Amino acid sequence: MSEQRPLTPNCPCGSGNTLDQCCGRYHAGTPAPSAELLMRSRYSAYVLGLVDYLQATTLPVQQTALDMDGMRRWSLDSTWLGLEVNESAVLGGKPEHARVTFTARWHDQAGEHVHQERSAFVQCDGKWYFIDPTVPLKAGRNDPCPCGSGSKFKKCCAAYV
Ligand SMILES: [Zn+2]
Ligand SMILES: [Zn+2]
Repeated sequence: MSEQRPLTPNCPCGSGNTLDQCCGRYHAGTPAPSAELLMRSRYSAYVLGLVDYLQATTLPVQQTALDMDGMRRWSLDSTWLGLEVNESAVLGGKPEHARVTFTARWHDQAGEHVHQERSAFVQCDGKWYFIDPTVPLKAGRNDPCPCGSGSKFKKCCAAYV
């Protein structure tokens, strides 16, 4: 069996910094200052099995709909091989939105996986959140946005996810 926690103090996100000087700060409660850093800390959380952190950094309105057991299994049953952030762009809007394209590699019973994804993020009350594409945001286009910004959905997250 492989050990989940890396033996070296290097951050699992591949930044080259130690965990304590990188994603560990965000896992400990400091809000990630950008969508890219939040994305990196979420990857590290998968490596380290920090499923509660994955939940806490997902858009609050989506948190109770997450498949926590599935996330925990995916986290623990995979050997995480690396993260590459391909592109990170702040899109604007109020509140601010961002998109991060990344490639994650992991290994499980089925073999090795390489997955590229473009994820959407929104900043609410000074904190960045991941918008989970597997949990539908239920709102009409003219309804208040589910992110809690107070803007209409169509002018807020619907325009950026
Ligand atoms: Zn890191
Ligand atoms: Zn929104």
